[in-house]
Amino acid sequence: MEHIENLFRQIPQVDKLMQHEYIINCGMYRHEVANAARDILNELRESIKVREISMVPDAGELANNAIHLAKERAKKGIRPVINGTGVILHSNLGRACLSKAAVEAVTNTAASYCTLEYDIEEGKRGSRTESIEKYLREITNCEASIIVNNNAAAVLLILFAIASNGNVIVSRGELVEIGGKFRVPDIIDRCGCYLLEVGTTNKTRTADYEVAIDENTKAMLKVHSSNFKIVGFTESAPIDELSTLGKKYNIPVIEDIGSGALVNVNKYGLYDEPLVKESLNKGADIVSFSGDKLLGGPQCGIIVGKKEYIAEMRKHPLYRALRADKMTIAALEATLRVYADTQVAEREIPVLSMLSQTEEMLRSGAEVLCKKIEELGGAAEVIKAKSVAGGGSVPGLELNSYAIAPIGKISVDEMEQKLRAMSVPIIGRIENNRYFLDMRTIFEDDYDYIANAVAEITQLMVK
Ligand SMILES: *Cc1c(COP(=O)(O)O)cnc(C)c1O
Repeated sequence: MEHIENLFRQIPQVDKLMQHEYIINCGMYRHEVANAARDILNELRESIKVREISMVPDAGELANNAIHLAKERAKKGIRPVINGTGVILHSNLGRACLSKAAVEAVTNTAASYCTLEYDIEEGKRGSRTESIEKYLREITNCEASIIVNNNAAAVLLILFAIASNGNVIVSRGELVEIGGKFRVPDIIDRCGCYLLEVGTTNKTRTADYEVAIDENTKAMLKVHSSNFKIVGFTESAPIDELSTLGKKYNIPVIEDIGSGALVNVNKYGLYDEPLVKESLNKGADIVSFSGDKLLGGPQCGIIVGKKEYIAEMRKHPLYRALRADKMTIAALEATLRVYADTQVAEREIPVLSMLSQTEEMLRSGAEVLCKKIEELGGAAEVIKAKSVAGGGSVPGLELNSYAIAPIGKISVDEMEQKLRAMSVPIIGRIENNRYFLDMRTIFEDDYDYIANAVAEITQLMVK
């Protein structure tokens, strides 16, 4: 008993420990280190109580433990990772990486006052998205546009503003769940609209829509079945036929095209991905899509279409709740700016660069990375891989790619865990009992970091 009392007396006060030079010079927020120090000292008391330890560590060790714990806790928030999965639009990893110009635009406007709703020439209130609207008109030929927080919000705003208290006709083949409980039938219901299902799961024709039209019909909605594919005996009503039907009965045709490609992505091997411009060309009245999928910009929802409908949305109270913030607007504006020249867009927008990489480029990248790993005493080999666009684009379609597979003594699961635990976590894939990093989603700037990490884990011995 005597001994325990003695140990307790040796435990420093938190305030005292906080004066230790290690803590003073650690560069962390003091309140975070103090919280960690308190927890470490409490834990120490508990251990002494149950006689797990018989010696109190010295102040230097306790200070270091507190700093370490505070650092570990600070890592829990959002931070960069290296994406070696080959999934370009990985929703869990933040989808599209922004271009350098978009990042710069965000940085410039975020920490300072900006012209968000201010017209410099007139010296009075201006529009927050005037410039974006101009770019979208140039790129897609749309009459008007409006920007909200994401495409889910876009669908809500469209339905509330255009179709409340009326019927919305949707094909049974398109009553999908987009993800995160966002289900088309549910959403229509919650927007105060009545869903009229037409056709069947695999086949719906334009005539099916026409039969369903009555005086309560407020819209026809087409939803791109982004994250699944029905194959075989299928048919859906083409947007141009639906548009003709819409005009005949004066009913707006809405298309949620999901990814929203602004350039033709067929040449990258992504087929069946609707182009925004084409959908409008074929007569859709309102088209919605995401900003952070194939477009390669910030998270947002973009609605383009006929002036009269966009004006309804802008007037709707829900718009005030869903409108995008200044950072999103800055990033989107900078991203759209380069679309006037597809080559510049491919060079500057990471999603497009990743898609446009040839197999040759990917293989040579993998070879460079492998060589770096070998120079550091590690081992890895170049293997063929298949990457995917992700983000609900073109389900089931894979792009030929190259990857590096570390060769070590530890198991693939251990490799995966160790690389994931690095200070900048490296996220790879395991397939057929092989761990690998797909080159398509890896930035060249990260090669050295990855080489060091892989060299380290491939030299580990099995315990
Ligand atoms: C991804 C997707 C959405 C949701 O878009 P978010 O920008 O993630 O809200 C809606 N509809 C379709 C067809 C999609 O593919």
